[in-house]
Amino acid sequence: MPSVTRRSLLIGAGGVALSAPAVLRGDVRIAANSVVVVGAGVFGAWTAHHLKLQGYRVTLIDAWGPAHSRSSSGGESRLTRAAYGKDDIYTRMAMDSLPQWKELSAAAGLPIFVPSGILFFFPNEEPYVADSIAAHKRFGLATEVLDQAHMARRFPMIDFTGIKVGLYEPDFGALMARRAVQTLVWRLQRGARGQIPVNLRWESIERPRDAGDHIESIRTRDGEWISAAKFVFALGPWLPKLFPEVIGKRILPTRQEVFYFAPPAGDARFLPAAMPGWADFNGGDIFYGFPDLEGRGVKFAHDQHGVEVDPDTQSREPTRAALEEIIAFRDRRFPALRGAQLSGAEVCQYENSSNGDFLIDFHPRLKNVLLVGGGSGHGFKHGPEVGRYAAGRLIGLVEAEPRFSLASKSETHKREVH
Ligand SMILES: Cc1cc2nc3c(=O)[nH]c(=O)nc-3n(C[C@H](O)[C@H](O)[C@H](O)COP(=O)(O)OP(=O)(O)OC[C@H]3O[C@@H](n4cnc5c(N)ncnc54)[C@H](O)[C@@H]3O)c2cc1C
Repeated sequence: MPSVTRRSLLIGAGGVALSAPAVLRGDVRIAANSVVVVGAGVFGAWTAHHLKLQGYRVTLIDAWGPAHSRSSSGGESRLTRAAYGKDDIYTRMAMDSLPQWKELSAAAGLPIFVPSGILFFFPNEEPYVADSIAAHKRFGLATEVLDQAHMARRFPMIDFTGIKVGLYEPDFGALMARRAVQTLVWRLQRGARGQIPVNLRWESIERPRDAGDHIESIRTRDGEWISAAKFVFALGPWLPKLFPEVIGKRILPTRQEVFYFAPPAGDARFLPAAMPGWADFNGGDIFYGFPDLEGRGVKFAHDQHGVEVDPDTQSREPTRAALEEIIAFRDRRFPALRGAQLSGAEVCQYENSSNGDFLIDFHPRLKNVLLVGGGSGHGFKHGPEVGRYAAGRLIGLVEAEPRFSLASKSETHKREVH
């Protein structure tokens, strides 16, 4: 891999010699169009993509590589849906992200977007339902409002006892998460014709320590300095670890466990052609899951925030208590899966902002540093639009959205976005 030191004469992100305008900082000339993005999860990868489209020279750095299995983006699958109750901002972002996912999926060897449809079901007609229906009408999105009898006929793998209403989004579905990020990064590294490839580096970056109002380089754990005009830190659950004084408890990583079960032999009801991605709102205590994608098994998870964890040290072994809770839910809602064998498990973390809104804002002191994170258990689907907005903010192309500001984040947590 190319190395870049403070003694380089003319350097850009990744150490490429540049003909673009450069500024002189100390003894280092830094190309004005050079950006380093630290963190190759879904947010960092799409930010790199949109910066590249704008003609920037991007170095993308990750300590363990794109969508590695302990990152928040490293799971098998993620739901994409536009139902967000009253939160139009996320409906729009999910809607605008979907074509970008489909484009990536079409270019990939194996599917990234699986159009299984998404079914949310509720024991009552709560405001979230009416608000989502209204939003879908406003945005021209397809939604079917289903009663219990209709759902029971159409989705016979689910027992809808106690359920009053369902929202079905036929145009959404599942994203193959790890594959999606790794495919995107692989494409960025190759570079389309006429575009400069993104330089991917496997490095652990230390906490920036500059005392002034900007940074000109960051240091790897091996002591190498990497310079650029601008920096993005998209560190998911690690963001509070690199910026403790700024983030503090504004982003809290919590332990989340996910389980997969083998469907009955030869039973096509659990395949994505028949079974949607789903969420049981369950009076606010949400469970969600996926059909059997690519033979991994039928997936179940409890959306409730688990205990606070450190992503570097939390155990990745599933717990008996979480498994038993999921099995109890599964046996009630998916009776055909009673006794189904556990076929896999993942222990991940949500990186929760105080209310579930993303953080995409400049560091309060370091004017050339953008902080991106707070995916809060629902960020994956929005990766393309988070990346577009983050790139736009960094280079001054978009207005600041107050809901993504650091100022709107508190150290007191009350989840509001679902
Ligand atoms: C179990 C689970 C289920 C979820 N379900 C959904 C869903 O159905 N739909 C949905 O839309 N979203 C969902 N999410 C949320 C979504 O996956 C996350 O919001 C999103 O993946 C966050 O991406 P990120 O890029 O911010 O973080 P990450 O993917 O964690 O990426 C951060 C990267 O930064 C790197 N890094 C950290 N520190 C350093 C350093 N010092 N030097 C170099 N690199 C560093 C890490 O190695 C990591 O790769 C779910 C999350 C989980 C855990």
